[in-house]
Amino acid sequence: MATIFSKIIAGEIPCHKVAEDDEFFAFLDINPVAVGHTLVVPKQETDYIFDLDDPLLGRMICFAKRVAAAQKAAIICKRIGLTVIGLEVPHAHIHLIPMTRESDMFFGRKKLEITPESLAEIAGKIRKEYK
Ligand code: AMP
Repeated sequence: MATIFSKIIAGEIPCHKVAEDDEFFAFLDINPVAVGHTLVVPKQETDYIFDLDDPLLGRMICFAKRVAAAQKAAIICKRIGLTVIGLEVPHAHIHLIPMTRESDMFFGRKKLEITPESLAEIAGKIRKEYK
């Protein structure tokens, strides 16, 4: 059965898309820990990120780098933090999180409450900066 992320990539489930190329897809996390929290996902459905072959994993990091540059340009922050957890959705993904302090990366705290309209606006700003 397709993962929820494959359904998002296929357009069967809505998302706030940020960027896409032939192999990867980036969209806003629906329960963000910080404004602009984005997920980068390979279109190839693989559960564990370190099961991706080396060239694909390398290209995924380079894609994430371009998305991070767009986030950095669009959102006030010190830098973009990167983390991989993967306990909830069995489809490899990188979390890219705009941060100004270490605690912005902490998944244990209360998630932000952001309206769909605001998420759409944030995604639009990041999309505009993606090159
Ligand atoms: P984890 O697998 O532990 O890295 O967490 C999966 C992440 O995916 C969580 O931060 C969720 O908020 C996020 N997530 C789950 N479903 C969706 C969705 N439909 N759209 C956007 N983000 C999602």
